[in-house]
Amino acid sequence: MPEPRVVPASCLCGGVQIELDPPFELASFCHCGNCRKHSGHAGSAAMRVPIEKMRIVSGEELIEHFQPGPGLAVRFFCRTCGSSLFGMNDVASDEAWVRLGVLDADPGVRPSRHTWADSAPAWLPVPEDGLTRFPQRSV
Ligand SMILES: [Zn+2]
Ligand SMILES: [Zn+2]
Repeated sequence: MPEPRVVPASCLCGGVQIELDPPFELASFCHCGNCRKHSGHAGSAAMRVPIEKMRIVSGEELIEHFQPGPGLAVRFFCRTCGSSLFGMNDVASDEAWVRLGVLDADPGVRPSRHTWADSAPAWLPVPEDGLTRFPQRSV
């Protein structure tokens, strides 16, 4: 078993610095409309991290959150640069979905599924990559 190491993450302006403890078990592509709006891209790629394996090293005061509606995932972002950092099912959740785009090293895990595949935009359909697809929320 490889020696555990820390995977660093940071926002675009560098104000928020996060450390994550591998191994990570699950990563997904999400094509839902909320991920699309929040990222400005086709959706999001994120990995599940228990919150005890995630430390905000600096910039905690810069992290804002937004919940698009009741029961919808809460989105955490840097208020200075707007980077999407992670999502949580609610603010008291014991796990976060950390956006792969803010990682500063290879986390090891690879996305294994597509969620909300039916919501993918016409201009970037879900690729035929053999990964598990969920038409909407995963089960
Ligand atoms: Zn920032
Ligand atoms: Zn989504």
